[in-house]
Amino acid sequence: MAFESLSERFQEAFKKLRGKGKLNEEDVREALKEIRRALLEADVNFTVAKDFIKRVQEKAVGEEVFGSLNASQTVIKIVRDELTELLGGTQSRLTVSSKPPTVLMLAGLQGAGKTTTAAKLAKHLKQKGKSPLLVAADVYRPAAITQLEVLGNELNIPVYKEENCQDPVGIVSRAVPYATAHLCDTVIIDTAGRLHINEVLMDELIHIKETVHPHEILLVVDAMTGQDAVTAASAFDAALGIDGLIMTKLDGDARGGAALSIKAVTGKPIKFIGVSEKTDGLEEFHPHRYASRILD
Ligand code: GDP
Repeated sequence: MAFESLSERFQEAFKKLRGKGKLNEEDVREALKEIRRALLEADVNFTVAKDFIKRVQEKAVGEEVFGSLNASQTVIKIVRDELTELLGGTQSRLTVSSKPPTVLMLAGLQGAGKTTTAAKLAKHLKQKGKSPLLVAADVYRPAAITQLEVLGNELNIPVYKEENCQDPVGIVSRAVPYATAHLCDTVIIDTAGRLHINEVLMDELIHIKETVHPHEILLVVDAMTGQDAVTAASAFDAALGIDGLIMTKLDGDARGGAALSIKAVTGKPIKFIGVSEKTDGLEEFHPHRYASRILD
């Protein structure tokens, strides 16, 4: 499970604080030093970790914890609140268009889990009473189209594809009216990925965006890639503009740095997380619940 080592380190720091009774400034500074080290070892962005500690320190001073009896509880609460903030604060929901269909465009680097996530998201929305349409716009990888079709069949969710068509912009522009004609209220577009960010990829995504004006552009990133996921998110946001993120593979042993840095660095929230390879392995992302999972 992700965050395991970070979680242990937080527990240790808290245990020391709890054992102390009244705290002086030095005790808190020591604990925060440990927490800062733990954040950096979990691969949290350096500036993000530094700012985190600074905010906790300032709040602890502001709340005059030093010398008070429940000081450790107060410090722990401040850390919990700040960790929740770091994960995005409040839950960030998907936009639903008042005029169907709602168009959701998934983007991401190859291997991040885009195609799997498209199917997972379709299943999640179907369970919520929506009628999704999956659109296979990753035309350069025939395997991706087949993969989406297999998943669609398994979930009993329609998949729009065009045999031998190499024009993703054309495909998506025809997929939206197809959705309307077939009473699908949500369109989920699986776009092409590349191993690295490049101009050709971005141009294609921008072209799709300008053609269908998606209500949400969701970037799929792999938690296991750590700060590379954060760098990718910044680059996609700068070139394409993203509305939020889906972070996959949080069931693996990712250290957690990406999840803890991405909102602070990009300003964009994580909306869903991937927690298994299976189609039911997608969860809405609740920052406060996740903070508790790390701290409790
Ligand atoms: P794409 O190239 O971005 O479309 O990536 P795929 O959807 O083909 O996924 C790449 C690999 O990651 C596949 O083996 C998926 O089963 C796996 N995968 C995707 N999401 C998750 C996840 O949340 N957890 C785990 N463990 N594996 C995932």
